Amino acid sequence: MSSLVVCTACGTAFNVVRNDVFVEELKDGESVAVFKADVWACPRCKRSILRGFGAPVREHFEGGYAKFMDTVRPKFKFERRFS
Ligand SMILES: [Zn+2]
Repeated sequence: MSSLVVCTACGTAFNVVRNDVFVEELKDGESVAVFKADVWACPRCKRSILRGFGAPVREHFEGGYAKFMDTVRPKFKFERRFS
């Protein structure tokens, strides 16, 4: 897969600005999983995205989930919406 990401707002290629940040997934407001992903940003207009997700690092049904989330304190959160 190409790693080229282009900003639709200003037509500039994004760059990776941080690797392996923790990202929390919410479902109906409840924490369900945590992933690692990379932050990409547009150097011109500063819009940013998260991409490069792998499998979840932890899921809510695993033992020690709350303690793990307390330790990593994800800076980013997301929710899947289908409409
Ligand atoms: Zn831009």
